Amino acid sequence: MKNYDEFSNIEFEKLCESQNVFKSEYDLDSYSYWFYDQESELLRLYNSDEDEVFFKYVPVGTYSLKSNTWMWSWENEHSIEKSKNETLQVKSFGEIHNYQKLTKGLIECDKDECWEFVAIAKKFIKSLGAYCTDSKDLLTYKLLTHEYSETDSTAVKKMKQRTVDCGNHGFKRPAFVCQHLNLKKANGFEESFTTYRGMELDEEDDFAAWCNECEKVRVEKDGWNEESEKFAKIKLVCEECYFELKEFNKK
Ligand SMILES: [Zn+2]
Ligand SMILES: [Zn+2]
Repeated sequence: MKNYDEFSNIEFEKLCESQNVFKSEYDLDSYSYWFYDQESELLRLYNSDEDEVFFKYVPVGTYSLKSNTWMWSWENEHSIEKSKNETLQVKSFGEIHNYQKLTKGLIECDKDECWEFVAIAKKFIKSLGAYCTDSKDLLTYKLLTHEYSETDSTAVKKMKQRTVDCGNHGFKRPAFVCQHLNLKKANGFEESFTTYRGMELDEEDDFAAWCNECEKVRVEKDGWNEESEKFAKIKLVCEECYFELKEFNKK
């Protein structure tokens, strides 16, 4: 029986080889934007509506740059993808061979180890290759099982409906801010709930923020109603715009 390091090295080498082929075959580096949808388990890589590719994916795990920890997706309560249970095959294998890194849900480790975990998962989950997306402090690793070519399907339409294009950031999730928030003068930043970049939202939640003045009016008028909303004149932006505004205005 191999020890864990030997085993993970072998799988990592295999992944490197197949990744090269996969990346060139789909010209993955040519896409500037990504978006993924947990409900449909679809990853979209794109430059525009005409220049895009979709993949079905299995979430493998995430790496927090804050706590330097890897979390297997089977452990992750925020992951709603049904396919995350496929990673339980890795766990069972780890139990048989007593590889603790495969059986513990949360592991303190170096960032570089993530690709080894992905490589091991690829041994059990038939896939074309792997992809990593990053949103601020969190790296999310996926295995892409196959290209999804039904671009007219309801799943894709629904996914696109859930995104907006502000003109600067590509298709992102929608967010709402009051008319006074800008990147010229800090006006405060009140939110309907505490947010962070890349966070998953429940179906009924939206990113929404307003300025100090709006907050005064909102309190004065007893909450959001016709009068306070008239003052705020909430407008639609994308989530990327939202977090730029948040960083600038929250002082
Ligand atoms: Zn305002
Ligand atoms: Zn934007």
